[in-house]
Amino acid sequence: MMNFKKYKRVPAVNFSEREWPNRQIEKAPIWCSVDLRDGNQALIEPMVVEEKIEYFDLLVKLGFKEIEVGFPSASQIEYDFLRQLVDRKLIPDDVTIQVLVQCREHLLKRTFEALEGVKTAIVHIYNSTSTLQRDVVFNMSREEIKQIAVEGTKLVKEYAKEFPGKVVLQYSPESFTGTELDFAFKNRDSIILSVHPHNDRGTGVASAELSLMAGADRIEGTLFGNGERTGNVDILNIAFNMFSQGINPELNIENINEIIEVYERCCKIPVHVRHPYAGKLVFTAFSGSHQDAINKGVKALMERKSSIWEVPYLPIDPADIGRKYEPIVRINSQSGKGGVAFIMETYYGYKLPKAMHKEFADIIQKISEKQGEVAPEQIMDEFKITYLEKKEPLHFRKCKFEDLSDSDMSYDTLAKIVYTDNGVEKTFEATGNGPIDAVQNGLHQEMNLDVKVLDYSEHALGEGANAQAAAYIHLLDRKTGKTVFGVGVSSNITRASIRAIFSALNRL
Ligand SMILES: [Zn+2]
Repeated sequence: MMNFKKYKRVPAVNFSEREWPNRQIEKAPIWCSVDLRDGNQALIEPMVVEEKIEYFDLLVKLGFKEIEVGFPSASQIEYDFLRQLVDRKLIPDDVTIQVLVQCREHLLKRTFEALEGVKTAIVHIYNSTSTLQRDVVFNMSREEIKQIAVEGTKLVKEYAKEFPGKVVLQYSPESFTGTELDFAFKNRDSIILSVHPHNDRGTGVASAELSLMAGADRIEGTLFGNGERTGNVDILNIAFNMFSQGINPELNIENINEIIEVYERCCKIPVHVRHPYAGKLVFTAFSGSHQDAINKGVKALMERKSSIWEVPYLPIDPADIGRKYEPIVRINSQSGKGGVAFIMETYYGYKLPKAMHKEFADIIQKISEKQGEVAPEQIMDEFKITYLEKKEPLHFRKCKFEDLSDSDMSYDTLAKIVYTDNGVEKTFEATGNGPIDAVQNGLHQEMNLDVKVLDYSEHALGEGANAQAAAYIHLLDRKTGKTVFGVGVSSNITRASIRAIFSALNRL
Protein backbone atom coordinates (compact mmCIF):
# COMPACT_ATOMS: atom_id res chain seq x y z
CA MET A 1 0.00 0.00 0.00
CA MET A 2 1.39 3.39 -0.93
CA ASN A 3 1.95 5.61 2.05
CA PHE A 4 -0.33 8.47 1.07
CA LYS A 5 -0.32 9.72 4.65
CA LYS A 6 3.13 11.02 3.92
CA TYR A 7 1.53 13.92 2.04
CA LYS A 8 -0.68 16.71 3.24
CA ARG A 9 -3.51 18.43 1.46
CA VAL A 10 -3.55 22.06 0.31
CA PRO A 11 -5.99 23.86 2.63
CA ALA A 12 -9.26 25.01 1.05
CA VAL A 13 -9.78 28.73 0.65
CA ASN A 14 -13.09 29.72 2.13
CA PHE A 15 -14.20 32.67 0.07
CA SER A 16 -17.90 32.70 -0.57
CA GLU A 17 -17.91 35.86 -2.73
CA ARG A 18 -15.83 34.17 -5.41
CA GLU A 19 -17.13 35.32 -8.79
CA TRP A 20 -14.46 34.35 -11.29
CA PRO A 21 -15.60 30.75 -11.96
CA ASN A 22 -18.58 32.28 -13.78
CA ARG A 23 -16.39 34.39 -16.03
CA GLN A 24 -15.03 33.52 -19.46
CA ILE A 25 -11.73 34.23 -21.10
CA GLU A 26 -12.42 37.11 -23.49
CA LYS A 27 -9.05 38.08 -24.90
CA ALA A 28 -5.44 37.03 -25.16
CA PRO A 29 -3.24 37.93 -22.21
CA ILE A 30 0.18 39.56 -22.53
CA TRP A 31 2.31 36.61 -23.57
CA CYS A 32 5.83 36.37 -22.26
CA SER A 33 8.10 33.64 -23.55
CA VAL A 34 10.58 32.28 -21.03
CA ASP A 35 11.94 29.70 -23.48
CA LEU A 36 15.38 31.22 -23.54
CA ARG A 37 15.70 31.27 -19.76
CA ASP A 38 13.51 28.75 -17.90
CA GLY A 39 13.28 26.54 -21.00
CA ASN A 40 16.94 26.73 -21.89
CA GLN A 41 18.23 26.11 -18.36
CA ALA A 42 16.26 22.86 -18.32
CA LEU A 43 17.80 21.45 -21.51
CA ILE A 44 20.18 18.53 -21.28
CA GLU A 45 22.26 20.36 -23.84
CA PRO A 46 21.59 24.10 -23.48
CA MET A 47 21.43 26.16 -26.67
CA VAL A 48 24.53 27.83 -28.03
CA VAL A 49 24.36 31.54 -28.91
CA GLU A 50 23.50 30.99 -32.59
CA GLU A 51 20.69 28.59 -31.67
CA LYS A 52 19.38 31.12 -29.17
CA ILE A 53 19.38 33.79 -31.85
CA GLU A 54 17.45 31.55 -34.22
CA TYR A 55 14.99 30.74 -31.44
CA PHE A 56 14.67 34.43 -30.55
CA ASP A 57 13.88 35.22 -34.19
CA LEU A 58 11.19 32.53 -34.16
CA LEU A 59 9.61 34.02 -31.02
CA VAL A 60 9.60 37.47 -32.64
CA LYS A 61 8.03 36.02 -35.77
CA LEU A 62 5.35 34.31 -33.68
CA GLY A 63 4.43 37.70 -32.31
CA PHE A 64 5.78 37.61 -28.76
CA LYS A 65 6.14 41.18 -27.51
CA GLU A 66 7.86 40.19 -24.27
CA ILE A 67 10.72 37.71 -24.31
CA GLU A 68 12.84 36.68 -21.37
CA VAL A 69 16.36 36.26 -22.72
CA GLY A 70 18.18 34.91 -19.72
CA PHE A 71 20.06 35.53 -16.55
CA PRO A 72 22.96 37.63 -17.87
CA SER A 73 24.58 38.15 -14.49
CA ALA A 74 24.72 34.44 -13.81
CA SER A 75 26.42 33.10 -16.92
CA GLN A 76 28.80 34.42 -19.53
CA ILE A 77 26.91 32.75 -22.40
CA GLU A 78 23.69 34.51 -21.38
CA TYR A 79 25.55 37.80 -21.05
CA ASP A 80 27.08 37.31 -24.52
CA PHE A 81 23.73 36.36 -26.02
CA LEU A 82 22.12 39.56 -24.75
CA ARG A 83 25.04 41.60 -26.11
CA GLN A 84 24.66 39.91 -29.50
CA LEU A 85 20.95 40.78 -29.59
CA VAL A 86 21.78 44.43 -28.87
CA ASP A 87 24.89 44.78 -31.03
CA ARG A 88 23.32 43.03 -34.03
CA LYS A 89 20.13 45.08 -33.56
CA LEU A 90 17.97 41.97 -33.43
CA ILE A 91 15.41 43.34 -30.96
CA PRO A 92 12.50 44.99 -32.82
CA ASP A 93 11.23 48.27 -31.35
CA ASP A 94 7.95 46.74 -30.26
CA VAL A 95 9.58 43.83 -28.43
CA THR A 96 10.58 44.15 -24.81
CA ILE A 97 13.22 41.84 -23.50
CA GLN A 98 13.22 40.59 -19.97
CA VAL A 99 16.14 39.56 -17.80
CA LEU A 100 16.08 37.62 -14.58
CA VAL A 101 18.21 38.55 -11.62
CA GLN A 102 18.34 37.91 -7.90
CA CYS A 103 17.92 40.86 -5.52
CA ARG A 104 21.66 41.35 -5.00
CA GLU A 105 23.69 44.43 -5.76
CA HIS A 106 26.62 43.00 -7.73
CA LEU A 107 24.25 40.91 -9.86
CA LEU A 108 22.04 43.91 -10.61
CA LYS A 109 25.11 45.94 -11.57
CA ARG A 110 26.22 43.30 -14.06
CA THR A 111 22.67 42.96 -15.39
CA PHE A 112 22.42 46.66 -16.20
CA GLU A 113 25.81 46.48 -17.92
CA ALA A 114 24.48 43.69 -20.11
CA LEU A 115 21.40 45.79 -20.93
CA GLU A 116 23.32 48.77 -22.26
CA GLY A 117 21.72 50.00 -25.47
CA VAL A 118 18.36 48.29 -24.86
CA LYS A 119 15.37 50.62 -25.34
CA THR A 120 12.99 48.92 -22.93
CA ALA A 121 13.77 46.13 -20.52
CA ILE A 122 11.85 44.26 -17.90
CA VAL A 123 14.13 43.59 -14.96
CA HIS A 124 12.72 40.60 -13.22
CA ILE A 125 13.72 40.12 -9.61
CA TYR A 126 12.49 37.27 -7.51
CA ASN A 127 12.73 35.58 -4.20
CA SER A 128 10.94 32.64 -2.79
CA THR A 129 8.15 33.44 -0.40
CA SER A 130 7.00 29.88 0.24
CA THR A 131 6.73 28.75 3.82
CA LEU A 132 8.86 25.70 3.15
CA GLN A 133 11.67 27.53 1.38
CA ARG A 134 11.72 30.32 3.99
CA ASP A 135 12.15 27.66 6.58
CA VAL A 136 14.54 25.09 5.08
CA VAL A 137 16.40 27.09 2.42
CA PHE A 138 16.78 30.62 3.77
CA ASN A 139 15.96 30.29 7.45
CA MET A 140 14.28 33.69 7.40
CA SER A 141 11.15 35.22 8.86
CA ARG A 142 8.35 36.71 6.80
CA GLU A 143 9.64 40.20 7.59
CA GLU A 144 13.17 39.33 6.44
CA ILE A 145 11.86 37.86 3.19
CA LYS A 146 9.81 40.97 2.54
CA GLN A 147 12.87 43.05 3.21
CA ILE A 148 14.77 41.27 0.40
CA ALA A 149 12.08 42.29 -2.08
CA VAL A 150 11.97 45.87 -0.80
CA GLU A 151 15.76 46.20 -0.97
CA GLY A 152 15.85 44.67 -4.43
CA THR A 153 13.20 47.07 -5.66
CA LYS A 154 15.16 50.04 -4.31
CA LEU A 155 18.32 48.86 -6.02
CA VAL A 156 16.60 48.39 -9.37
CA LYS A 157 15.15 51.90 -9.05
CA GLU A 158 18.61 53.31 -8.43
CA TYR A 159 20.18 51.60 -11.42
CA ALA A 160 17.16 52.45 -13.57
CA LYS A 161 17.67 56.16 -12.88
CA GLU A 162 21.05 56.09 -14.58
CA PHE A 163 19.96 53.76 -17.37
CA PRO A 164 19.13 55.57 -20.63
CA GLY A 165 16.39 53.12 -21.66
CA LYS A 166 13.06 52.40 -20.01
CA VAL A 167 13.00 49.88 -17.18
CA VAL A 168 9.97 47.94 -16.01
CA LEU A 169 10.29 46.16 -12.70
CA GLN A 170 8.91 42.67 -12.39
CA TYR A 171 8.82 41.11 -8.98
CA SER A 172 8.09 37.41 -8.54
CA PRO A 173 7.22 35.84 -5.26
CA GLU A 174 8.64 32.46 -6.30
CA SER A 175 6.78 29.30 -5.24
CA PHE A 176 3.76 31.50 -4.67
CA THR A 177 1.41 28.55 -4.39
CA GLY A 178 3.30 27.40 -1.30
CA THR A 179 2.94 30.79 0.37
CA GLU A 180 0.39 31.49 3.11
CA LEU A 181 -2.47 33.52 1.72
CA ASP A 182 -2.43 36.17 4.41
CA PHE A 183 1.22 36.80 3.54
CA ALA A 184 0.73 36.69 -0.20
CA PHE A 185 -2.00 39.31 -0.63
CA LYS A 186 -1.05 42.30 -2.74
CA ASN A 187 -2.31 45.61 -3.91
CA ARG A 188 -3.88 44.32 -7.12
CA ASP A 189 -4.79 47.61 -8.77
CA SER A 190 -1.40 49.11 -9.47
CA ILE A 191 0.27 46.07 -11.00
CA ILE A 192 0.28 43.83 -14.06
CA LEU A 193 -0.56 40.45 -12.57
CA SER A 194 1.53 37.82 -14.29
CA VAL A 195 1.43 34.07 -13.74
CA HIS A 196 4.21 31.59 -14.37
CA PRO A 197 2.71 28.11 -13.99
CA HIS A 198 4.70 24.92 -14.20
CA ASN A 199 3.17 21.59 -15.04
CA ASP A 200 4.15 19.49 -12.01
CA ARG A 201 0.65 18.18 -11.49
CA GLY A 202 -0.16 18.12 -15.19
CA THR A 203 -2.43 21.13 -14.76
CA GLY A 204 -0.27 23.93 -16.15
CA VAL A 205 -2.66 24.89 -18.93
CA ALA A 206 -5.72 24.61 -16.69
CA SER A 207 -4.06 26.72 -13.98
CA ALA A 208 -3.15 29.40 -16.49
CA GLU A 209 -6.65 29.49 -17.95
CA LEU A 210 -8.28 29.62 -14.52
CA SER A 211 -5.98 32.46 -13.51
CA LEU A 212 -6.97 34.38 -16.65
CA MET A 213 -10.60 33.95 -15.65
CA ALA A 214 -9.68 35.18 -12.19
CA GLY A 215 -8.10 38.30 -13.64
CA ALA A 216 -4.45 37.61 -14.49
CA ASP A 217 -3.09 39.93 -17.20
CA ARG A 218 -0.03 38.09 -18.35
CA ILE A 219 1.27 34.56 -18.81
CA GLU A 220 4.85 33.41 -18.79
CA GLY A 221 5.43 30.10 -20.49
CA THR A 222 7.25 28.31 -23.28
CA LEU A 223 6.64 26.65 -26.63
CA PHE A 224 5.46 23.06 -26.15
CA GLY A 225 5.94 23.48 -22.39
CA ASN A 226 9.68 22.96 -22.19
CA GLY A 227 11.11 24.03 -18.82
CA GLU A 228 12.26 22.91 -15.41
CA ARG A 229 10.91 19.52 -14.22
CA THR A 230 7.65 18.77 -16.02
CA GLY A 231 8.05 22.06 -17.83
CA ASN A 232 6.56 25.51 -17.95
CA VAL A 233 3.03 25.99 -19.15
CA ASP A 234 2.71 25.45 -22.93
CA ILE A 235 1.79 28.85 -24.37
CA LEU A 236 0.88 27.36 -27.76
CA ASN A 237 -1.59 25.03 -26.08
CA ILE A 238 -3.35 27.94 -24.36
CA ALA A 239 -3.26 30.00 -27.55
CA PHE A 240 -4.76 27.18 -29.65
CA ASN A 241 -7.39 26.62 -26.97
CA MET A 242 -8.37 30.28 -27.32
CA PHE A 243 -8.37 29.97 -31.10
CA SER A 244 -10.65 26.94 -30.89
CA GLN A 245 -13.07 29.01 -28.80
CA GLY A 246 -13.25 31.83 -31.32
CA ILE A 247 -10.80 34.14 -29.50
CA ASN A 248 -7.90 35.83 -31.29
CA PRO A 249 -4.79 34.36 -29.64
CA GLU A 250 -2.72 37.31 -30.89
CA LEU A 251 0.16 35.08 -31.89
CA ASN A 252 1.12 34.06 -35.43
CA ILE A 253 0.88 30.35 -34.94
CA GLU A 254 -0.64 29.19 -38.21
CA ASN A 255 2.38 27.14 -39.20
CA ILE A 256 2.83 24.56 -36.49
CA ASN A 257 5.23 22.44 -38.54
CA GLU A 258 7.71 25.28 -38.84
CA ILE A 259 7.52 25.98 -35.10
CA ILE A 260 8.13 22.30 -34.35
CA GLU A 261 11.08 22.19 -36.73
CA VAL A 262 12.95 25.08 -35.07
CA TYR A 263 12.00 23.93 -31.58
CA GLU A 264 13.18 20.36 -32.04
CA ARG A 265 16.41 21.42 -33.69
CA CYS A 266 17.34 24.02 -31.06
CA CYS A 267 16.10 22.22 -27.95
CA LYS A 268 16.91 18.68 -29.08
CA ILE A 269 13.66 17.50 -27.54
CA PRO A 270 11.04 15.82 -29.73
CA VAL A 271 7.43 17.01 -29.58
CA HIS A 272 5.38 14.06 -28.36
CA VAL A 273 3.19 12.45 -31.03
CA ARG A 274 0.12 13.08 -28.88
CA HIS A 275 1.05 16.61 -27.82
CA PRO A 276 -2.12 18.79 -27.99
CA TYR A 277 -2.48 20.43 -31.44
CA ALA A 278 1.15 19.76 -32.41
CA GLY A 279 1.71 16.00 -32.16
CA LYS A 280 1.98 13.97 -35.36
CA LEU A 281 -1.01 11.84 -34.43
CA VAL A 282 -3.43 14.42 -33.04
CA PHE A 283 -5.37 14.74 -36.31
CA THR A 284 -5.32 11.02 -36.95
CA ALA A 285 -8.22 8.72 -36.19
CA PHE A 286 -7.52 5.00 -36.01
CA SER A 287 -10.96 3.77 -35.04
CA GLY A 288 -13.56 3.19 -37.72
CA SER A 289 -16.35 4.88 -35.80
CA HIS A 290 -14.23 8.00 -35.33
CA GLN A 291 -13.36 8.03 -39.02
CA ASP A 292 -16.99 7.63 -39.94
CA ALA A 293 -17.97 10.53 -37.68
CA ILE A 294 -15.22 12.75 -39.13
CA ASN A 295 -16.29 11.78 -42.64
CA LYS A 296 -19.90 12.73 -41.92
CA GLY A 297 -18.86 15.89 -40.10
CA VAL A 298 -16.73 17.17 -42.99
CA LYS A 299 -19.49 16.34 -45.47
CA ALA A 300 -22.16 18.12 -43.42
CA LEU A 301 -19.88 21.12 -43.07
CA MET A 302 -19.46 21.34 -46.83
CA GLU A 303 -23.15 20.86 -47.53
CA ARG A 304 -24.22 23.48 -45.00
CA LYS A 305 -21.55 25.90 -46.20
CA SER A 306 -21.31 27.04 -42.59
CA SER A 307 -18.51 29.38 -41.61
CA ILE A 308 -18.35 27.74 -38.18
CA TRP A 309 -16.12 24.67 -37.84
CA GLU A 310 -17.93 21.74 -36.26
CA VAL A 311 -16.48 18.30 -36.91
CA PRO A 312 -16.54 15.46 -34.39
CA TYR A 313 -13.13 14.65 -32.87
CA LEU A 314 -11.45 17.61 -34.57
CA PRO A 315 -11.50 20.62 -32.24
CA ILE A 316 -9.96 22.76 -34.97
CA ASP A 317 -9.56 22.53 -38.73
CA PRO A 318 -6.08 21.01 -39.19
CA ALA A 319 -5.60 23.25 -42.24
CA ASP A 320 -5.73 26.31 -39.98
CA ILE A 321 -2.37 25.43 -38.50
CA GLY A 322 -0.68 24.19 -41.64
CA ARG A 323 -1.68 20.57 -41.31
CA LYS A 324 -3.42 18.67 -44.08
CA TYR A 325 -6.35 16.33 -44.07
CA GLU A 326 -3.82 13.79 -45.26
CA PRO A 327 -2.86 12.31 -41.93
CA ILE A 328 -6.36 12.42 -40.48
CA VAL A 329 -7.34 8.89 -41.33
CA ARG A 330 -5.07 5.91 -41.54
CA ILE A 331 -6.47 2.54 -42.33
CA ASN A 332 -5.82 -0.51 -40.22
CA SER A 333 -7.83 -3.66 -39.67
CA GLN A 334 -10.07 -1.84 -37.17
CA SER A 335 -10.90 1.05 -39.46
CA GLY A 336 -14.12 -0.16 -41.00
CA LYS A 337 -15.70 0.73 -44.30
CA GLY A 338 -16.22 4.43 -43.52
CA GLY A 339 -12.47 5.03 -43.32
CA VAL A 340 -11.70 3.54 -46.73
CA ALA A 341 -14.53 5.50 -48.37
CA PHE A 342 -13.26 8.64 -46.63
CA ILE A 343 -9.77 8.17 -48.05
CA MET A 344 -11.13 7.57 -51.54
CA GLU A 345 -13.23 10.73 -51.38
CA THR A 346 -10.95 13.19 -49.59
CA TYR A 347 -7.70 12.09 -51.19
CA TYR A 348 -8.75 11.04 -54.65
CA GLY A 349 -12.22 12.45 -55.24
CA TYR A 350 -14.01 9.11 -55.75
CA LYS A 351 -17.43 9.21 -54.10
CA LEU A 352 -18.09 5.50 -53.85
CA PRO A 353 -21.82 4.62 -53.64
CA LYS A 354 -22.74 3.63 -50.11
CA ALA A 355 -23.54 0.04 -51.11
CA MET A 356 -20.01 -0.29 -52.51
CA HIS A 357 -18.20 0.75 -49.29
CA LYS A 358 -18.20 -2.73 -47.83
CA GLU A 359 -17.03 -4.50 -50.97
CA PHE A 360 -13.93 -2.35 -51.31
CA ALA A 361 -13.28 -2.09 -47.56
CA ASP A 362 -13.23 -5.90 -47.34
CA ILE A 363 -10.45 -5.97 -49.92
CA ILE A 364 -8.42 -3.40 -47.96
CA GLN A 365 -9.12 -5.16 -44.67
CA LYS A 366 -7.55 -8.37 -45.98
CA ILE A 367 -4.40 -6.42 -46.79
CA SER A 368 -4.32 -4.69 -43.40
CA GLU A 369 -4.73 -8.00 -41.60
CA LYS A 370 -1.56 -9.17 -43.32
CA GLN A 371 0.59 -6.05 -43.17
CA GLY A 372 -0.94 -3.70 -40.57
CA GLU A 373 -1.53 -0.13 -41.57
CA VAL A 374 -2.45 0.66 -45.19
CA ALA A 375 -1.40 4.01 -46.62
CA PRO A 376 -3.77 6.03 -48.82
CA GLU A 377 -1.54 5.49 -51.88
CA GLN A 378 -1.81 1.75 -51.44
CA ILE A 379 -5.58 2.01 -51.14
CA MET A 380 -5.66 3.91 -54.44
CA ASP A 381 -3.34 1.35 -56.08
CA GLU A 382 -5.66 -1.42 -54.92
CA PHE A 383 -8.64 0.50 -56.31
CA LYS A 384 -6.94 0.69 -59.70
CA ILE A 385 -6.01 -2.98 -59.71
CA THR A 386 -9.47 -4.08 -58.60
CA TYR A 387 -11.67 -1.80 -60.67
CA LEU A 388 -10.03 0.56 -63.10
CA GLU A 389 -7.24 -1.37 -64.75
CA LYS A 390 -8.59 -4.89 -64.88
CA LYS A 391 -8.45 -5.95 -68.56
CA GLU A 392 -8.80 -9.70 -68.28
CA PRO A 393 -10.72 -11.53 -69.52
CA LEU A 394 -12.73 -8.66 -71.05
CA HIS A 395 -11.42 -5.30 -72.07
CA PHE A 396 -13.66 -2.57 -73.43
CA ARG A 397 -12.07 -0.73 -76.37
CA LYS A 398 -14.52 1.45 -78.28
CA CYS A 399 -18.19 2.26 -78.50
CA LYS A 400 -20.52 4.02 -80.84
CA PHE A 401 -24.11 4.89 -80.13
CA GLU A 402 -26.78 5.74 -82.60
CA ASP A 403 -30.01 7.52 -81.80
CA LEU A 404 -32.96 5.53 -83.20
CA SER A 405 -35.72 7.67 -81.76
CA ASP A 406 -36.95 8.81 -85.19
CA SER A 407 -37.21 5.25 -86.52
CA ASP A 408 -40.06 2.88 -85.75
CA MET A 409 -37.89 0.64 -83.60
CA SER A 410 -39.18 -0.04 -80.09
CA TYR A 411 -35.73 0.78 -78.70
CA ASP A 412 -34.18 4.14 -79.30
CA THR A 413 -30.45 3.45 -78.83
CA LEU A 414 -28.18 1.25 -80.93
CA ALA A 415 -24.84 0.35 -79.34
CA LYS A 416 -21.80 -0.86 -81.29
CA ILE A 417 -19.17 -2.17 -78.91
CA VAL A 418 -15.58 -3.18 -79.67
CA TYR A 419 -13.82 -5.17 -76.93
CA THR A 420 -11.21 -7.86 -76.48
CA ASP A 421 -11.93 -11.25 -74.97
CA ASN A 422 -8.69 -12.76 -73.65
CA GLY A 423 -6.82 -10.54 -76.08
CA VAL A 424 -8.95 -11.34 -79.13
CA GLU A 425 -10.82 -8.38 -80.59
CA LYS A 426 -14.58 -8.83 -80.88
CA THR A 427 -17.61 -6.66 -81.49
CA PHE A 428 -21.32 -6.72 -80.88
CA GLU A 429 -24.31 -4.59 -81.70
CA ALA A 430 -27.46 -4.33 -79.65
CA THR A 431 -30.36 -2.00 -78.97
CA GLY A 432 -31.90 -0.77 -75.78
CA ASN A 433 -33.74 2.17 -74.29
CA GLY A 434 -30.44 3.85 -73.47
CA PRO A 435 -26.69 3.10 -73.76
CA ILE A 436 -26.50 1.02 -70.58
CA ASP A 437 -29.62 -0.96 -71.44
CA ALA A 438 -28.34 -1.55 -74.98
CA VAL A 439 -25.01 -2.87 -73.70
CA GLN A 440 -26.78 -5.04 -71.13
CA ASN A 441 -28.93 -6.55 -73.89
CA GLY A 442 -25.88 -7.07 -76.08
CA LEU A 443 -24.05 -8.93 -73.34
CA HIS A 444 -27.03 -11.23 -73.01
CA GLN A 445 -27.64 -11.84 -76.73
CA GLU A 446 -24.06 -11.91 -78.00
CA MET A 447 -22.06 -13.17 -75.04
CA ASN A 448 -24.68 -15.19 -73.20
CA LEU A 449 -24.13 -13.20 -70.01
CA ASP A 450 -27.33 -12.87 -68.01
CA VAL A 451 -26.53 -9.75 -66.06
CA LYS A 452 -28.65 -6.95 -64.72
CA VAL A 453 -27.54 -3.44 -63.80
CA LEU A 454 -28.95 -2.90 -60.31
CA ASP A 455 -27.71 0.58 -59.82
CA TYR A 456 -25.79 3.23 -61.64
CA SER A 457 -24.23 6.48 -60.45
CA GLU A 458 -21.66 8.92 -61.71
CA HIS A 459 -19.93 12.16 -60.75
CA ALA A 460 -17.27 14.48 -62.08
CA LEU A 461 -13.70 13.87 -60.92
CA GLY A 462 -12.24 17.27 -60.25
CA GLU A 463 -13.53 20.53 -61.65
CA GLY A 464 -13.75 22.41 -64.92
CA ALA A 465 -14.51 21.52 -68.51
CA ASN A 466 -11.70 18.95 -68.72
CA ALA A 467 -12.89 17.03 -65.67
CA GLN A 468 -13.14 13.27 -66.03
CA ALA A 469 -16.26 11.40 -65.03
CA ALA A 470 -16.33 8.40 -62.71
CA ALA A 471 -19.16 5.89 -63.17
CA TYR A 472 -20.17 3.11 -60.78
CA ILE A 473 -22.20 0.08 -61.83
CA HIS A 474 -23.75 -2.39 -59.42
CA LEU A 475 -24.14 -5.61 -61.43
CA LEU A 476 -26.10 -8.79 -60.69
CA ASP A 477 -25.30 -12.12 -62.30
CA ARG A 478 -28.75 -13.71 -62.50
CA LYS A 479 -27.33 -17.20 -62.90
CA THR A 480 -25.32 -17.19 -59.70
CA GLY A 481 -27.05 -14.41 -57.75
CA LYS A 482 -23.67 -12.77 -57.19
CA THR A 483 -23.46 -8.96 -57.21
CA VAL A 484 -20.35 -6.88 -57.78
CA PHE A 485 -19.38 -3.29 -58.42
CA GLY A 486 -17.47 -1.94 -61.38
CA VAL A 487 -15.93 1.47 -61.87
CA GLY A 488 -15.04 3.30 -65.06
CA VAL A 489 -13.38 6.63 -65.72
CA SER A 490 -13.47 8.65 -68.92
CA SER A 491 -13.84 12.20 -70.13
CA ASN A 492 -17.10 10.99 -71.68
CA ILE A 493 -19.84 9.97 -69.26
CA THR A 494 -21.29 7.22 -71.48
CA ARG A 495 -17.88 5.68 -72.07
CA ALA A 496 -17.19 5.83 -68.32
CA SER A 497 -20.36 3.84 -67.64
CA ILE A 498 -19.56 1.16 -70.29
CA ARG A 499 -16.08 0.85 -68.78
CA ALA A 500 -17.75 0.40 -65.40
CA ILE A 501 -19.87 -2.45 -66.80
CA PHE A 502 -16.80 -4.23 -68.18
CA SER A 503 -14.97 -3.61 -64.90
CA ALA A 504 -17.84 -5.34 -63.08
CA LEU A 505 -17.96 -8.22 -65.61
CA ASN A 506 -14.31 -8.99 -64.93
CA ARG A 507 -15.07 -9.25 -61.26
CA LEU A 508 -17.99 -11.71 -61.53
ZN1 LIG B 1 9.86 28.68 -13.89
